[in-house]
Amino acid sequence: MRKPIIAGNWKMNKTVQEACILVDALKKGLSDVRDVEIVVCPPFTALRDVGKAINGTNIHLGAQNVYLEEKGPYTGEISPLMLKDLGCKYVIIGHSERRRYFGEDNELINKKVRKSLSCGLSPILCVGERLEERKAGRQEEVVYDHVVNGLTDLSKEDMMQVVIAYEPVWAIGTGVAATPEDAQEMHKFIRNILSSLHDRDLAEGVRIQYGGSVKPENISDLMAKSEIDGVLVGGASLNADSFVKIVRFKRRG
Ligand code: PEP
Repeated sequence: MRKPIIAGNWKMNKTVQEACILVDALKKGLSDVRDVEIVVCPPFTALRDVGKAINGTNIHLGAQNVYLEEKGPYTGEISPLMLKDLGCKYVIIGHSERRRYFGEDNELINKKVRKSLSCGLSPILCVGERLEERKAGRQEEVVYDHVVNGLTDLSKEDMMQVVIAYEPVWAIGTGVAATPEDAQEMHKFIRNILSSLHDRDLAEGVRIQYGGSVKPENISDLMAKSEIDGVLVGGASLNADSFVKIVRFKRRG
């Protein structure tokens, strides 16, 4: 059984004070939740304070990005060891905004994934097609490329630490989420790739999140799908009420 994982990506939002106010509200609203793994990913500047606030609670800490070396002359970068030191368990890697605005490609993303794993962090690897790629019917080709090349040279042990987030770029921040059926289909496709790269048992153990305009209104329908093991939430994770509602989604069936 895969434990659902629901993560909030706060992106470049929240001062330290605002982050602390948000996380305090999440702690109050979610303290009794045991059946979902909850993760918050504040900006780097708020990791330390948010980490202290959630220490010993059921909320885990994640970062939004990382560099591919442990230390050295890389001005302005943050290493996986530093994130681990701050108490991070997860790190988002290969978000479409990093691919788009910072030119990150699969090769760089794979290096970040491998270095993060070697430092004891669990990568949340983001994959997903752009609108023009879906319109051209190329969504599976693109996702295959992101998954296979993002996860090159990983052992089975490493793979079990990885979470994959399927985030169609056209659904991010647009208010137009993928239908639960389309997401389910793509998640099955991703699981089949994992099976062909490793084996069925391993593929069945890896959690695959959906991301893109997840809200309290659509979470239950998404989570009702057998292949959707959680969600990565952007905009709706910035508001305590809506993130609490998402984590406390109503189970169907
Ligand atoms: C994201 O950026 O990872 C995301 C899913 O954003 P939103 O929920 O705002 O669409």
